[in-house]
Amino acid sequence: MITGPALSLQQTPTAPARWQQLWRDAVRDPAELLALVGLPGLAARVSASAAAQFPLRVPRGFVARMRPGDPNDPLLRQVLPLDDEDQPAPGYGLDAVGDLAASGGTGVIHKYRGRVLLVATGSCAVHCRYCFRRHYPYAEQTAAAGQWREALDYLAGDAGVSEVLLSGGDPLSLATPKLAEFTRALAGLPHVRRLRLHTRLPIVLPERVDEELLAWLSALPQQVVVVVHANHANEIDAPVAAALDRLRGAGAHLLNQAVLLRGVNDSVAALADLSEALFAAGTLPYYLHQLDRVAGAAHFEVPDAEARALHGELAARLPGYLVPRLVREVAGAPSKTPL
Ligand SMILES: *Cc1c(COP(=O)(O)O)cnc(C)c1O
Ligand code: SF4
Repeated sequence: MITGPALSLQQTPTAPARWQQLWRDAVRDPAELLALVGLPGLAARVSASAAAQFPLRVPRGFVARMRPGDPNDPLLRQVLPLDDEDQPAPGYGLDAVGDLAASGGTGVIHKYRGRVLLVATGSCAVHCRYCFRRHYPYAEQTAAAGQWREALDYLAGDAGVSEVLLSGGDPLSLATPKLAEFTRALAGLPHVRRLRLHTRLPIVLPERVDEELLAWLSALPQQVVVVVHANHANEIDAPVAAALDRLRGAGAHLLNQAVLLRGVNDSVAALADLSEALFAAGTLPYYLHQLDRVAGAAHFEVPDAEARALHGELAARLPGYLVPRLVREVAGAPSKTPL
C-alpha cells in the first residue's frame, strides 16, 4: 500500500508520467528481445559491436506488435542490431545528410527556406538501425539543453522563418513542461505561424499522447503539424490509431514519413497497406525517403531503379493522396530531392 508521504511525493511535478515509466522500462538487451519474440536462436546473428555503438532500445508495446517466431518480422528488423551492420560499404559514412555543415547554432539547422529545424533533444524511445542519427553528436548539440535560448535568438533574428520544426532525436521525448517552455517564448515571435513536430513516439509509445500533451497542443496559437514515422502497417494497432485520433482532436494536422527499407516495406503490398492503415487512422502519407547512406545501414538499401518502380506501381494502385513523395536527402540541395 502507498503510505501518506509516498502519495504526496507522487504528486510533485517531477514525478514521472506513465509514459516516462514505460519509456524507462523499454527492452535494451538483445537476448531479452529475442526471448520475448520466441527467437533465441537468432542471438548468434546479433552484433555486439553494432549494439555497443548504437544500443538496442525498444518499448515493450512495440515488441508486442511483432509476430512471434518470425525472424523476418518487419518491426523486429527495424530495431535488432544484426551482424549485417558490420559489413563495410563504400559510400556509407557518418554525416550522410550534411547536418554538421548547416548548423546555425546549438541545435539549429537551417537548410530550407522559411523553415528551421531544431534538434530539440538527442533521445529517442526506439533506436532504429537505419537512422543517420546513430552517428551524429546530437547528445551535446540540442536546442533544449540551453533553455532554448540560442534557438529562440536565431528565430527572433530572421523574420523570414514562418515554420519551426522540432526534431531530434524525438522532441516528444522531452517532458511536456519543457516543450511548453519553448512555445511560451515562441508565442512572442508572430512571424512563426506553424509549429511542426517530427516524432515517432505516437507510433512506438502511444501512451506519450496523454492529457498533458493534448492540453499543451490544443492551446498553441500556431497551426500545428505532427509528422509521425511508421514504416509498416503492423506498427499501427488500435492504441496507436487512438493516439493519432487524440492528436487530431487537439487540432494537429497529421502526416507520416517512412523510409524505404529492404526486408521491411520493399513491396507494393506493404507500401499500399501502410498508406491504407495511416489513412484509416486520420494520417496522410507525406514522404517515402530513400535511405540515408549511413555506415551500418547498407543492407537496408533499395536501389533507386527498384524504388522508382515500386513507387510507380503504388501510384497505379492508390488515390494520389495516399501516394507519398519518393525523395532523397541530398546535402546542399534546397529541398528534399524527388527521385
Ligand atoms: C527535411 C527537413 C525539413 C523539412 O522539409 P519539408 O520538405 O518542409 O518537409 C526542414 N529542415 C531540415 C533541416 C530538414 O532536414
Ligand atoms: S530519430 Fe527517428 S528514426 Fe532515428 S532513431 Fe530516433 S525515432 Fe528512430
